Amino acid sequence: MDKETVDYLIDYYLRLLPLKVKKELIYPYLTDAERQIKKTELARLLLEDYRDKIYMNNCPVCGKLARTPHARQCRHCGHDWH
Ligand SMILES: [Zn+2]
Repeated sequence: MDKETVDYLIDYYLRLLPLKVKKELIYPYLTDAERQIKKTELARLLLEDYRDKIYMNNCPVCGKLARTPHARQCRHCGHDWH
């Protein structure tokens, strides 16, 4: 999973995970690398267990992921679907 997808899932859908799972992410002694690994694990978990609640906002032209679930413009190709 690329970092962009991980960040999207963590930023917008982390709330779906139970506190006991997501609190691992705020453990203060993680290095940046460890935190990124943990984020990837949780993002994978989100896609496995909450796929029906997650909207992957892919651009209708290039298919890449938009910045937010509500974005109407692609940051990759500039397509605007307002
Ligand atoms: Zn695009």
